[in-house]
Amino acid sequence: MFIEPHFKGQRSGWIEVVCGSMFSGKTEELIRRLKRAKIANQKVEIFKPKIDTRYDDVKVVSHDSNYILSTPIDHSSRLLELTEGVDVIGIDEAQFFDLELPQVCQQLAMRGIRVIVAGLDMDFKGIPFGPIPNLLAMAEYITKVHAICQHCGNLAVHSYRKISDSETVVLGEKDTYEPRCRTCYEMGNILDLHPGKEEDKKSS
Ligand code: ZN
Repeated sequence: MFIEPHFKGQRSGWIEVVCGSMFSGKTEELIRRLKRAKIANQKVEIFKPKIDTRYDDVKVVSHDSNYILSTPIDHSSRLLELTEGVDVIGIDEAQFFDLELPQVCQQLAMRGIRVIVAGLDMDFKGIPFGPIPNLLAMAEYITKVHAICQHCGNLAVHSYRKISDSETVVLGEKDTYEPRCRTCYEMGNILDLHPGKEEDKKSS
């Protein structure tokens, strides 16, 4: 579990990233950290990209309905205008933000703000997702959370898409994606590309 660092004297900002596959508990972890800051009377604000309209326009909603109110914004630069006097900001679904997000987070941290970013580290193709790789390089603290592979029960790092659609941004839930470990993810991709391969293997 992530334990917040303590600071003495002049408070400086920093960047934390919580990343992982779908169903790994990223949003729950973001909310856990934000709620604790709130209890300490710190001014907390949450933002998410406008594209994520799965549930609700003004809430960061995690899969267990443990939610916090949030503001949808269309570009990361808006964060610089909207965070006057804020101690802690949470950014959810950060993978959908523009590539300026890491630089914006740097500026926010330089203002003394604690910036907590949660997002998918890889898309369904297994490719590092949007601004997340650069954020991981720049952050002081990184937490990678894992889901459980639906096939074998090992730790899952991939978001496997069950439907064939090459668009990267397909918002969806359990009908569209499932968490898979490296091996089951690879196996799924091979079977998708070469249907019938499993039968070939069995008969040989
Ligand atoms: Zn597996």
